[in-house]
Amino acid sequence: MAKHDYDLFVIGAGSGGVRAARVSAAHGAKVAIAEEHKVGGTCVIRGCVPKKLLVYGAHFAEDLQDARRFGWEVPACNFHWPTLRDNVLEEVARLEAAYTDTLRNHDVEVIKERAVVTGPNEVRLAGGRTVTARHILIATGARPVLPDFPGAQHGITSNEVFHLPELPRRVVIAGAGYIANEFAGIFHQFGSDVTLVNRSDIILRGYDETIRDRLLTISMMKGIQFRFHAAFRKVEKARDRTLTIHMTGCDPIEADMLLFAVGRSPNTEGLGLESAGVQIDDKGAVKVDEDNKSTCGSIYAVGDVTNRVQLTPVAIREGQAFADTVFGDKPTRVDYGSIPSAVFSHPPLAGVGMTEGEARNKLGSVKVYLSDFRAMKNVLAGRNERALYKLVVDGETDEVVGLHMIGPDSPEILQAAAIAVKAKLRKEDFDSVVALHPTMAEELVLMR
Ligand code: NDP
Repeated sequence: MAKHDYDLFVIGAGSGGVRAARVSAAHGAKVAIAEEHKVGGTCVIRGCVPKKLLVYGAHFAEDLQDARRFGWEVPACNFHWPTLRDNVLEEVARLEAAYTDTLRNHDVEVIKERAVVTGPNEVRLAGGRTVTARHILIATGARPVLPDFPGAQHGITSNEVFHLPELPRRVVIAGAGYIANEFAGIFHQFGSDVTLVNRSDIILRGYDETIRDRLLTISMMKGIQFRFHAAFRKVEKARDRTLTIHMTGCDPIEADMLLFAVGRSPNTEGLGLESAGVQIDDKGAVKVDEDNKSTCGSIYAVGDVTNRVQLTPVAIREGQAFADTVFGDKPTRVDYGSIPSAVFSHPPLAGVGMTEGEARNKLGSVKVYLSDFRAMKNVLAGRNERALYKLVVDGETDEVVGLHMIGPDSPEILQAAAIAVKAKLRKEDFDSVVALHPTMAEELVLMR
């Protein structure tokens, strides 16, 4: 008789947990996965997927306007938020069902309950049942940080933003990172007045400075407002539901919605990890080694709960590596080098490898190639919005160590170009490729 109820018990059915559960089961393990909310996790239910659908929806504002310059007679168009919201939520529900089906088709037992760890090999379910497992995988993700100041409860987070009963006329967004810039673009295109408020004067910390500056310039040109070096003091809510937001260093702002986008913190509270000797760090993240193993030998963790790189494809890689290593007899470690990333702002930006600043700090000599151009479509549309591509090259080896871009379809273009950066190709290799004309991507091989 088996010593444990399961070979693997996964807590959290998000991107990392689902991949780990499915692949472990395919390797022959008896697997259960517990999820207290919805199968799919942040990315599918209240993150990347519904966000990208809103980005598509928002882009029609400009496309419909530009269409007139391309000869189309476009009548006055109105945007109806409930239609887009409900269609997006319907798609999310379809995906949740598809994820659940995939798990069940791989013989993974899906348990729709909260689970907490009660020992190195033991988990207790909210319904009262206790089960045992040879291995436990913590894949509980992260949640939006809620700042603490008087009236902060009047703000919402990215968890709630997909369910708004109506489109807010005036939007204030706290933070200047991924979520802040993506939703600033979305709400601005829907016609809301948008103000971004940040504690520093840096947007999208970590991205290349020239690219960040270009997004700031374009965003301001479009009419998005920014308040920098502003810390929230308090928020008051009037009877008519108007919020008055008080900050240090600038006048109060009135808004109909305050969205907090000031980072995400790992979901480890109340998980019972201490009962198994699983250590967490000062940010609340599960400490793991290169094989995703925690300080308890039978317990592993993948994805945002480990606070390494908070990106879905990384969590998926970690889940796959865990399953292959522990159940597939194929020891695998995730390579964290040259991870491409993108911000789906308006316009979007994307990058891979070292920024110019990082390269100058790390390498002896650096060459930078820039292409600053107006996309053909924008020229005819009369849209004064310039794209910017930057290649960062090691001056000694000619290796392209970084690629950064902002402009239409940048994330789509960068995904392919990231292969070249990951493969450590040289600038000379880029130059040897014949341009594909007329495209925006041809700029990548024409920079001299
Ligand atoms: P980010 O880490 O991107 O940005 C956080 C922002 O909040 C920064 O502007 C930061 O300011 C500010 N901030 C941080 N702490 C505080 C604080 N205590 N008080 C006030 N301001 C603060 O976080 P997001 O919430 O936008 O996104 C969370 C994560 O989700 C991202 O890091 C990313 O990994 C992931 N994500 C990825 C997306 C994608 O791939 N396209 C899309 C959305 C999210 P400063 O920089 O000045 O310190």
